[in-house]
Amino acid sequence: MAHIYNFNPGPAMLPRPVLEEVQRDLLDYKGRGLSVMEMSHRSREYMAINAEAAALVKELLGVPEGYHVLFLQGGASTQFAMAPLNFLPPGATADYIITGAWSEKAFEEAGKVGKPHVAATTKSENYRRIPSLGEINLSPDPVYVHFTSNNTIFGTQWGALPTFGDRTLVADMSSDFMSRPVDVAPYGLIYAGAQKNIGPAGVTIVIIRDEWLGKAPPTLPAMLRYDIHAKNDSLYNTPNTFGIYVTSLVLRWLRDQGGLEAVARRNEEKAQVIYDAIDASDGFYRGHAEPRSRSLMNITYRLPSEELEKAFVREAAEQGFIGLAGHRSVGGIRASTYNAMTHEGCQALAEFMQEFLRTHG
Ligand code: PMP
Repeated sequence: MAHIYNFNPGPAMLPRPVLEEVQRDLLDYKGRGLSVMEMSHRSREYMAINAEAAALVKELLGVPEGYHVLFLQGGASTQFAMAPLNFLPPGATADYIITGAWSEKAFEEAGKVGKPHVAATTKSENYRRIPSLGEINLSPDPVYVHFTSNNTIFGTQWGALPTFGDRTLVADMSSDFMSRPVDVAPYGLIYAGAQKNIGPAGVTIVIIRDEWLGKAPPTLPAMLRYDIHAKNDSLYNTPNTFGIYVTSLVLRWLRDQGGLEAVARRNEEKAQVIYDAIDASDGFYRGHAEPRSRSLMNITYRLPSEELEKAFVREAAEQGFIGLAGHRSVGGIRASTYNAMTHEGCQALAEFMQEFLRTHG
């Protein structure tokens, strides 16, 4: 098997020990004679997997009492619509802090339901930074304040997560969920696709404050209602059983890594290795993000020309580094260094960058 370093932005690499366990148990889950894929979602075995996955999210994040953890489908993109459909009565306002293409999409969906207000945006600077708290203009009485904790495309991240007095937060944490500790208490809703930091594609994690379950209008269809999914422990309809099973194994792996404090420390060290290679290159590599807004998950940078960028991606792939082409709206290179990426992988990429600079600089 070819040895590769997988820097894909998502779906992204999974921890090797998790894939090996999945492979071992694929045909015969714990001696039951069948695969998790072949089980009823109402079987005792599967219900235990579902319950363990939710319990691990609560344990790892220290989710306080009064919240539900749900595993839904439809990706974060469905959450862009579900949040306002459940919480935002027509005519009411929610504040949106726009830090990238995904925040824009969330804002657009909210505009189909209520009257979202742009509290801040860094679009005019091609989203190279997170706004400072002083730049954020909240409306007088928003139902919630929405933000994107990590901007996958642009490679920026809120270092310290913001709070705004007693206003309730709603956050898209798709690309840094479970990469660091989060104080969940100020949030009415946290949502994230699993496919970057904690599992395969097709699983959407939702953490919702119980008080917010009762807010949906009676006309909202069942599948779009958080209260229905909460009442049924994410088993209202057939969930992505196999995806949730793999997610439960990644969550166990995160616990075995020492929990989110330890995971966050490793993520910082990993990203630093690559940022150091950028900063030591005398301007050959130019980071897209302003230094104080740098993401620990997606490291975005340009080279002096598009030809060099193409050569970088091509030569990197020849040496086993895949998934490095930047998103078309930023160009250049994007190295995604989620939980499963190893320190060794980041070190190897940094060395490749130094070698590329030596031969092409
Ligand atoms: N939000 C963020 C921050 C993302 O990175 C992505 C996917 N890259 C999405 C939302 C959309 O997620 P999905 O494809 O799961 O709907």
